[in-house]
Amino acid sequence: MAELDQLLTKKVADRYLKREMLGEGTYGVVYKAIDTKTEQTVAIKKIRLGKQKEGVNFTALREIKLLKELNDPNIIKLIDAFPHKGNLHLVFEFMETDLEAVIRDRNIVLSPADIKSFLQMTLKGLAFCHKKWVLHRDMKPNNLLIGADGQLKLADFGLARIFGSPDRRLTHQVFARWYRAPELLFGAKQYGPGVDVWAAACIFAELLLRRPFLQGNSDIDQLGKIFAALGTPKPPQWQDMIYLPDYVEYQYVPGQSISTLFPMASDDALDLLSKMFTYDPKARISAQRALEHRYFSSVPPPTEPASISRPPPKKDHATFKVLDFNSQCGPTVLSPPRKSRRVMPQREGFEVNTHQLDKIDEHGNESRQAAGERSEHVPMSFDFSVFGMKPPTRPTINSADRSHLKRKLDLEFQQPEEE
Ligand code: ADP
Repeated sequence: MAELDQLLTKKVADRYLKREMLGEGTYGVVYKAIDTKTEQTVAIKKIRLGKQKEGVNFTALREIKLLKELNDPNIIKLIDAFPHKGNLHLVFEFMETDLEAVIRDRNIVLSPADIKSFLQMTLKGLAFCHKKWVLHRDMKPNNLLIGADGQLKLADFGLARIFGSPDRRLTHQVFARWYRAPELLFGAKQYGPGVDVWAAACIFAELLLRRPFLQGNSDIDQLGKIFAALGTPKPPQWQDMIYLPDYVEYQYVPGQSISTLFPMASDDALDLLSKMFTYDPKARISAQRALEHRYFSSVPPPTEPASISRPPPKKDHATFKVLDFNSQCGPTVLSPPRKSRRVMPQREGFEVNTHQLDKIDEHGNESRQAAGERSEHVPMSFDFSVFGMKPPTRPTINSADRSHLKRKLDLEFQQPEEE
């Protein structure tokens, strides 16, 4: 408790010299600042705590303290955390750009070795956190920040867990439906690190395609797009699926072969990608096992981070537009939402808790069977020309989404626990 008191009372406002605003994120405004103690440039995320009647929530502080201890080259460093004028300020190391900006920059050519390097850094950060029983839960390219030295770092780690879903003032903010694992889309309440691995697979796919892989405009549509691409899972492939709270039966479609979807990828890349895109979270490859996959030891070796091209340091990017290539219809939902509830077996799933991730499943390497082929879905190869046209129109959160999200992701702000 003494440490928590210290966190609460720490005066830090006179330590940081505020500079320009960097942007407004899901939880509040982010400023550039200079740490006068270290002369370091930092990014300060100011988090509104409006909903908290009694000031800073203790659980939040405890979890932030945990994040402060997550020290890894591929995780953004949380330098400091302090409450100030009713807001919580989180001080992070300053990062030049992010992976979304890289993917979107049509002047940047990403070689297979560059892609391998980005994926490796992403998985290293994830594996570290999963080892420490922390889930990210909001993996998406603009949460993968890139420093001046080219190192990619996972940002916003655990914030979804700590702060819950955004409030009304932030409705313009994006929500990463496109990166959500099928178990989350089916309403799983107990889930594990596999959700981050699925999102990492979507990011891997996006690096290959240079556009978001599956751009659903609702949860049902997202699942439809997943199944249209990868095939509708059959119960033997994912036995727990039918017991998930929001499970609905989808018309069976065989999906496409992964090599048709990603014709530019090597066999090793495809093998790893299909293991990361395994439907059953219990059979999905873990971040650590993914790092041990032969994709990372086969040629070409991953590019040295400092040598990968980067966009110019972050400023307001022009509004790009990317064509929506996901206009194909997904499989039809066969049954209305039904509630065939069953308590998920505790031995396999677990309530996500940054302190209690005690059942990480690591035994799955089973590859998804990509059956059948349909040729009408033409994937983009290294055709970067479209990136000047249209940015991915990322879905925004509306109030229906928010309550849905709360229900689905259990993102309610944590009630103080009994100490
Ligand atoms: P979101 O919630 O949408 O992920 P964030 O709150 O993380 O957004 O960030 C808002 C803006 O601040 C974005 O433009 C982001 O790139 C920028 N930003 C966030 N963290 C950092 C950082 N450590 N260094 C530099 N810019 C940052």
